[in-house]
Amino acid sequence: MPALPRLIAFDLDDTLAPSKSPLDPRMAKLIAELLERVQVCVISGGQFGQFKMQVIDMLPELSADTLARLHLMPTCGTQYYRFESDEWNQVYAQNLTDDEKARALSAVETTARELGYWESETWGPILEDRGSQITFSALGQAAPVASKTQWDPTGAKKNALRTAVQALLPDLEVRSGGSTSVDITRQGIDKAYGMTKLAELTGVSFEETLFIGDRLDPEGNDYPVKALGVPTYAVEGWEDTAEYLENWLKQQA
Ligand SMILES: [Mg+2]
Repeated sequence: MPALPRLIAFDLDDTLAPSKSPLDPRMAKLIAELLERVQVCVISGGQFGQFKMQVIDMLPELSADTLARLHLMPTCGTQYYRFESDEWNQVYAQNLTDDEKARALSAVETTARELGYWESETWGPILEDRGSQITFSALGQAAPVASKTQWDPTGAKKNALRTAVQALLPDLEVRSGGSTSVDITRQGIDKAYGMTKLAELTGVSFEETLFIGDRLDPEGNDYPVKALGVPTYAVEGWEDTAEYLENWLKQQA
């Protein structure tokens, strides 16, 4: 890792917290301590509501100056939020056009039905319009982790769906999201896009940044950040991240 990163960026699901779940108090405290020393970014395919439930609402009481060092990048950084004037403000959002959205929704639903992946028992809606991203979640947004794991243990269904939908949407990008989800965005939108935007917005270079994620393997949704040349650290779950941060903070003390 960089000798002294000025900014530490995190993936959210399975890096800071279990998938779609709130931060553990241990992690919330670590993020608060980290914010006293460096700028912090959280970047994920999820939308802002997810960031609020999983991260913001779990943080201890922090000063406005401290919170100003937190950068939130929902939907891979096509949206950007900062804490300013006592509230979380959307600085920008790069949304899909109505035509792009309509074509994406239609392509993914038609294909999922054809492949037999359109489930009737779900936890919340299967399709979601996240503004800058259309997301397909096979079992719904709120599906329990165990059911999701069972649905597609090898990732074969998700990959088949991704490939077929991509063929129908040559001008858009179709990517694997979480364990049962497929995301559709403009081309070139992944976490590398978000991290590039972040470097522009903060003036912190890649070399002075550290990215921590659970899917830095070539198939993973964190890999584009590694490919970009940002120093990275791979974890296997939030406890792993917590241990790493505790050691790092100890070394800074
Ligand atoms: Mg993850």
